Amino acid sequence: MQKCLIIGGGPAGYTAAIYAARAGLDPVVIEGPEPGGQLTTTSLVENYPGFKDGVDATILMTDMRAQAERLGTKFVRGSVRSCDLEAKSVTLDGGESLSARALIIATGAAAKYLGLPSERQFRGMGVSACATCDGFFYRGRIVAVVGGGDTACEEAMYLAGLAKEVHMIVRKPFLRASVANRKRVEETPNITIHYETVTKEILGDASGVTGVKLDHNGEVFDMSLDGFFLAIGRHPNTEFLGGQLELDANGYIVSDGVLTSKPGVFVAGDVRNTDFRQAITAAADGCRAALEAEKYLKNNDQA
Ligand SMILES: Cc1cc2nc3c(=O)[nH]c(=O)nc-3n(C[C@H](O)[C@H](O)[C@H](O)COP(=O)(O)OP(=O)(O)OC[C@H]3O[C@@H](n4cnc5c(N)ncnc54)[C@H](O)[C@@H]3O)c2cc1C
Repeated sequence: MQKCLIIGGGPAGYTAAIYAARAGLDPVVIEGPEPGGQLTTTSLVENYPGFKDGVDATILMTDMRAQAERLGTKFVRGSVRSCDLEAKSVTLDGGESLSARALIIATGAAAKYLGLPSERQFRGMGVSACATCDGFFYRGRIVAVVGGGDTACEEAMYLAGLAKEVHMIVRKPFLRASVANRKRVEETPNITIHYETVTKEILGDASGVTGVKLDHNGEVFDMSLDGFFLAIGRHPNTEFLGGQLELDANGYIVSDGVLTSKPGVFVAGDVRNTDFRQAITAAADGCRAALEAEKYLKNNDQA
C-alpha cells in the first residue's frame, strides 16, 4: 500500500511527484505509454517560465523527472489498464496491481492526427497540434489549420493574429462550429476556408514543412506553406476509469479544481475539464493535487 500513487508522467504528474515527495508522501509515478508526456512530441518550449532563451522540450521533461527522482519519487513503467477508485487500486497492463491511500490522475490528453506518414515525419518540424504553443514560430508566415469545429476556428483565429495567411482545410462543405465562431473566421481577412478538401500528404525537406498536397473533390493540387496545424480533436486518456468518474461531453474528467467526486482521488492537468491546456497550467495542477493529497491524508490521519 503506497501513500500516494500518481498516474501519468507529464508536467502534471512530475510536478505532483515533486510536491508529494517533499511532503513525505513517498510518491510512486506510473508513467504510461509516453514518459515525459505530450511535450516530448515538440522541440522548443518558449513559454515555460525560467528559461530566458526557451528550453528543449525533452530536456525540460527529463529534468523535471530527475528533480522528482532526486527528491525520492519512484517510477513504474507501464500503463494503468483498469482501476477501482473506491479501493484506490490500479491494475497495470502487465497484470501487476498497486494501491494507495491517495491517488492523483494526470493522464493528459492526446491530440488526434490524420495518420499520414509525412505528418509523423514532420512532427515538430512544421506539423503541430497546438496553435497556442507553436503559433509564435509562424509570425508573418503561411499556415494551414485542419478541422472544421470550434477548436479549429479558435486555432485559426489565434494564428490569424500572427501569421500572414491562414488556410482552413475543412473536409465537409460547412463548418461544424458555433454561429459566432463561423462568423468570426469568415470575417477575418487573412483566413481562407477550403471546403470539401482533404489533406493527401504533407510536403517538406530537411528544413521542415514546405507545403501540402490537397484533394478538393478529386482535384489534387499543392499549396506552399510553412506550418500545418491539426485541430481535429483531442482524446483524453480516461478509458481505464471504466466510468467511475463523470466525464464531460468531450471526455474530460469533471472536477472542482483538482478535486474529483471521490474522496482521496485527485485530478491534474490536461485530462480534466479546464480551459487551459499548457505545461505551466498542468504543472500548477500537479502542485495543487499533491497539496490536496497531503491535506487529505493528514485529515484522515494517514500521512
Ligand atoms: C505539439 C505540442 C506542442 C506543445 N507545446 C507546448 C508549449 O510550447 N508550451 C506549453 O506550455 N505547452 C505545450 N503543449 C501542451 C502541453 O504539452 C500539455 O498541456 C501538457 O503536456 C499537459 O501535461 P499533462 O501532464 O496534463 O499531460 P501529458 O503531457 O499528456 O502527460 C500525460 C501522461 O500520462 C501518461 N498516461 C496516459 N495514459 C496512461 C495510463 N493509462 N496509465 C498510465 N499513464 C498514462 C502518459 O504516458 C503521459 O506520461 C504542447 C502540446 C503539443 C501536443
